[in-house]
Amino acid sequence: MATSGGGNYRNGTHKSSMKVDRSLSLNSNPKSSVKSKSLPSSGPRRNSTGSLAGGAAKDNAGVPGRVRVAVRLRPRNAEELVEDADFADCVELQPELKRLKLRKNNWDSDTYEFDEVLTEFASQKRVYEVVAKPVVESVLDGYNGTIMAYGQTGTGKTYTLGRLGEEDTAARGIMVRAMEDILADVSLETDSVSVSYLQLYMETIQDLLDPANDNIPIVEDPKTGDVSVPGATLVEIRDQHSFVELLRLGEAHRFAANTKLNTESSRSHAILMVHVKRSVKARDSAFSSENGNSPHMKTLKPSLVRKGKLVVVDLAGSERIDKSGSEGHTLEEAKSINLSLSALGKCINALAENSAHVPVRDSKLTRLLKDSFGGTARTSLVITIGPSPRHRGETASTIMFGQRAMKVENMLKLKEEFDYKSLARRLDIQLDKLIAEHERQQKAFEDEIERINVEAQNRISEFESNHADALEKERLKYQKDYMDSIKKLEEQFVKNQQKNGSEKVPVGLREDGSALTSNTESSKVSAAEEVAELKKLLQKENILRKTAEEEVNNLKSQIAQWRRSEASGNSEILKLRKMLEDEASQKEKLEGEIAILQSQLLQLSFDADETTRRLDRGGSGKVPSGLDSLISQVKHHQQNSGNGEKASIAKLFEQVGLQKILSLLEAEDADVRIHAVKVVANLAAEEMNQEKIVEAGGLTSLLMLLRNSEDETIHRVAAGAIANLAMNETNQELIMSQGGIGLLSMTAANAEDPQTLRMVAGAIANLCGNDKLQMKLRSEGGIKALLGMVRCRHADVLAQVARGIANFAKCESRAATQGTKTGRSLLIEDGALPWIVQNANNEASPIRRHIELALCHLAQHEANAKDMISGGALWELVRISRDCAREDIRTLSHRTLTSSPTFQAEMRRLRIGH
Ligand code: ADP
Ligand code: MG
Repeated sequence: MATSGGGNYRNGTHKSSMKVDRSLSLNSNPKSSVKSKSLPSSGPRRNSTGSLAGGAAKDNAGVPGRVRVAVRLRPRNAEELVEDADFADCVELQPELKRLKLRKNNWDSDTYEFDEVLTEFASQKRVYEVVAKPVVESVLDGYNGTIMAYGQTGTGKTYTLGRLGEEDTAARGIMVRAMEDILADVSLETDSVSVSYLQLYMETIQDLLDPANDNIPIVEDPKTGDVSVPGATLVEIRDQHSFVELLRLGEAHRFAANTKLNTESSRSHAILMVHVKRSVKARDSAFSSENGNSPHMKTLKPSLVRKGKLVVVDLAGSERIDKSGSEGHTLEEAKSINLSLSALGKCINALAENSAHVPVRDSKLTRLLKDSFGGTARTSLVITIGPSPRHRGETASTIMFGQRAMKVENMLKLKEEFDYKSLARRLDIQLDKLIAEHERQQKAFEDEIERINVEAQNRISEFESNHADALEKERLKYQKDYMDSIKKLEEQFVKNQQKNGSEKVPVGLREDGSALTSNTESSKVSAAEEVAELKKLLQKENILRKTAEEEVNNLKSQIAQWRRSEASGNSEILKLRKMLEDEASQKEKLEGEIAILQSQLLQLSFDADETTRRLDRGGSGKVPSGLDSLISQVKHHQQNSGNGEKASIAKLFEQVGLQKILSLLEAEDADVRIHAVKVVANLAAEEMNQEKIVEAGGLTSLLMLLRNSEDETIHRVAAGAIANLAMNETNQELIMSQGGIGLLSMTAANAEDPQTLRMVAGAIANLCGNDKLQMKLRSEGGIKALLGMVRCRHADVLAQVARGIANFAKCESRAATQGTKTGRSLLIEDGALPWIVQNANNEASPIRRHIELALCHLAQHEANAKDMISGGALWELVRISRDCAREDIRTLSHRTLTSSPTFQAEMRRLRIGH
């Protein structure tokens, strides 16, 4: 909770002065008000309120006003000791670090920090001191305080808060101890302590001190906003005994429906309200100095009253009602219980996130608690969990509730994811812009090229036709000139003939142009002239032809030039093509980046989903519950929270597509591959996804990765995913039929990294637990591979190896009991016994426990007895039957030793009693 004032649901010190002022006016009698007139201004009063506020500031030092959250683990009960004997607790506590580790599966866990971590050995006294005492002290100082217990039914809420402890004084719970502290601190002459005890069931408030008093309204002071339940019985408490009697009476009235989980389980919220009114002692205030020591004067002073209210809430079980298998008006109940619980969760979220709106009015519970949360209240929450791995989902959702109440850092992680999302979106937009621009440019280039081409073609044909025209013109001109000169010659010839006709034999050209010869002088002369004339004509003609030829050359060179310019146009096209190619490769690169980002996004949205899911209801697919799912139930009346959960996974699949994720396993980019395999592994960790992954061929792809990839990270993550998938029988058979054991063995032989080995060992250990696969697993080298991994001395690896061996031995002993197995254990055949004996007393408890179990299983088959004796296993069994910390294992090994004639004989021989 924030310290900043403003919202009346927040902590802040301003309210304390208001409270004291009001108390003053309410409690002052006429005499004292007269007296107060003579008081020196308001200084003393300010002083006294100031000290209250100071007290608050001191009390809240450190993390002011934050809801303090402790987690308490209940010890295994008798049923769990038997049924979960083979399983580890779903949580591991590190109280000295104030940390809790929640197992995700056999090889992974999440760590959470709390203000206090209370183990199964924590005494009630200690729990009171860390959870409740600071709150009770605040209440005695005049503040409001709240102590709440939240958790699945049967995890110890009532044990923590409500135990009366009459038969065993050490068992007294928080309510009883709080009252003891209060009564010890108040003075019954001047102060008063009164109590109401209520039950909130299906949004109805009942009086636990008077069951006939049903449906009590909550009253809100319109001015101050203070909430009270004036209709409730208020009993003044003067001694501890009467308080305990009152609690007993209330408990007897408390509605408790029978459920499968716990016959005392309760679906109602029980609310104890303790009102403490104290007169502030005279020596505390400035009046004393003014009035000296006169006891008489003291009684005339206005009394200063501090009012504190302690609210202790034993909340209804946080589990989903339908799981507990009860009958009757379950749905209505569920709705109502969920309503108050989910409203509480919303308020806690809003407070933790410092949000502007705190939806206090959503339920009766939050309205009742409003007063306690507001102003100067101090709030302590104890979340109770059980150890059983079967309730892992509920436990996870309880832990997440507690984490949110503490304002978790996990929430920050989600924001990062937001950044990735928007980056990917921005890149997508940019890419689309580039694609569009690229397309536009390409079109423009093509148009330009087309235009240049057409233009060049036009020019060429224009010039060609011009050229042809010019040639034709030239030819015609030349022909005409030629004809003209011939005509001229003929005319000349005719003239000459007429001139010489009378005296000489005609000389000239005949019609056909052939020369007429004459032997005369004159004819010789005229012929010579004619030749000269012709020569001249010929010369002229030559010149003309040359000009024409020049013209032709000219045109030709122009054509050549056009051809050249066309060629340069082509080179421009080439240049543009190159640019296009560059663009395309740039685009490809961007797409690659986007693929990486998308896969990161995938990872993040998976993480986010995972977190949301945990917040919603915790891991296991069968146990949906938790606050947010309840909220969503309220929002979507008919939907159950399971739908919400499925919807979010479905959304992920829908958004990205499983096929696409799987196809990324074969991506060229190594980063993308690694991301993809991580995403698949994360998905595979959820039981509900496993079938889909296998159906879509994911298992085969993962096995392929073991075969084909060189990358150790990929090996590690893929093996982890395979290990997760190997948790169900169908998949185990699939893995075996696809040569999985060979691939896992190969990976085990090549791996260096202990984490890779741990995953591989985890996978093989799971396969070891399948009765049908025993022979095949062994013949394909599974046991040898498992034993090979002990070369890595990492405790996590050894624990998985030990688990595998224990699983295998358990299947064998089952088969031996059913008569389907004869002959000695395949584990012994494969040489596992020496390692088993060596590690039977390993200091790491997960290793030791599995091996102890393995030894007990092996010992149950008489055919193993001889080898076990010669291998030194008998000593270990004897030790286990005497010293093992776990009673169930101790009993098991004792029974085994007693029922084996071979062991019995050997023990007689060695004179070992046991
Ligand atoms: P809830 O109120 O959460 O439903 P209970 O307080 O009724 O759970 O506890 C369920 C059972 O577990 C009771 O039998 C109770 O005595 C036992 N139990 C709970 N917490 C502890 C504890 N810390 N140590 C021993 N027994 C416990
Ligand atoms: Mg209870």
